[in-house]
Amino acid sequence: MTTPLVEMDGDEMTRILWQMIKDELILPFVDLKTEYYDLGLLHRNETKDQVTVDSANATKKYGVAVKCATITPNKQRMEEYPQLTEMWKSPNGTIRSILDGTVFRAPITIPTIKPVVKNWEAPITIARHAYGDVYKSVDMYTTEPGTCTMTFKGESGEEKTITVQKVDGPAVWQGAHNKEKSIRSFAKACFQYAIDTKQDLWFSTKDTIAKVYDGEFKKVFEEEFVNYKAKFDELGIEYFYTLIDDAVARVIRSKGGFIWACKNYDGDVMSDMVSTAFGSLAMMTSVLVAPDGTTEYEAAHGTVTKHYYKHLKGEETSTNPMATIFAWIGAFRKRGQLDGLNELVEYANKLEKACYTTLADGIMTKDLVNLVEPGVKVQGVTSRQFILAIRERLEKLI
Ligand code: NAP
Ligand code: MG
Repeated sequence: MTTPLVEMDGDEMTRILWQMIKDELILPFVDLKTEYYDLGLLHRNETKDQVTVDSANATKKYGVAVKCATITPNKQRMEEYPQLTEMWKSPNGTIRSILDGTVFRAPITIPTIKPVVKNWEAPITIARHAYGDVYKSVDMYTTEPGTCTMTFKGESGEEKTITVQKVDGPAVWQGAHNKEKSIRSFAKACFQYAIDTKQDLWFSTKDTIAKVYDGEFKKVFEEEFVNYKAKFDELGIEYFYTLIDDAVARVIRSKGGFIWACKNYDGDVMSDMVSTAFGSLAMMTSVLVAPDGTTEYEAAHGTVTKHYYKHLKGEETSTNPMATIFAWIGAFRKRGQLDGLNELVEYANKLEKACYTTLADGIMTKDLVNLVEPGVKVQGVTSRQFILAIRERLEKLI
């Protein structure tokens, strides 16, 4: 390696897996260079969360990061970790806002686990806009007849007011927004990702109803596409816009193998549908891509707390490390491509192949055992056994 990867360590069971993966699947094979940031909850606390900000800035500097799952503290965690001086914000949220990125989630599929939707032959990637709409909205309840208006006050002094609705009794209200700049970043990240992964891009909103709001999303995507069209044509891929309800019907009838860009709420809902239909959260990769191409790879699942408590009691767990290994694979492949290190790309490809071969040989963690097609012989193993089985195959490939 020439340029270091930004390594963001994390919490609980995934932190244990992180070390096992490094020890067994990376360090024996790669001259590993990383800039290490410990995003474990206690270290975030000690640094007043500065370490999260530093790791995001390092990602901007170097271009590629790999992140372990981390605890986002809530009330219960504050009791569990009395030394916490604050209920620190979600590291993913902090990193996302610094990198101004879009999250792409794609299932890892294997032949012996069939998607619930029979005609899906290739993975469907969800690109979720991660800013605004209902997630940054305000709402209120009113009790009497009356009129609600919405007013924008410009810094120039100009004002714009519209009537939301006149009501004859109790009512609920919601004010939501999005920023043109954020929509544009979302569009750029989606087009760039489609090019990087050579897949068609679908985008859906409800612009027939939300003519101005969703209409703006549609317009910005059209404007940005002009800058990517030549590259799309060269690769033979397509950009396709349709209404969200039409998209849902088409996605179910499709063969898969494309990116589906969704507004924030649609992406939240549809990514759970797609990942469940493909099998399991433990088989879902997640990558944050900024408009300038900066990327951060991670697993889509959390720190698997329940398994961690078993681990603390000395039990061997059967936690699935696939998504975390794939985060490393994605990071190595990207770093190798950026630095022109063919050997590093080759290693990433071989590690990926070793993972697939292990699963094809019927060796898997327990979460997958029940998802396998009837009649296929499988063996449920611990995380350690699974990782060692991958190592054995990787050694042969190398
Ligand atoms: P979780 O860690 O994803 O685990 C939920 C359940 O899903 C587990 O108990 C387990 O089910 C199953 N599961 C998830 N990943 C698995 C894997 N790799 N192998 C096998 N089974 C797996 O979600 P959570 O329990 O809601 O959250 C735990 C912590 O993670 C929280 O503190 C949260 O803040 C954090 N979190 C972090 C991220 C992130 O950093 N990206 C994302 C989400 C949540 P069984 O117990 O039935 O085996
Ligand atoms: Mg959700």
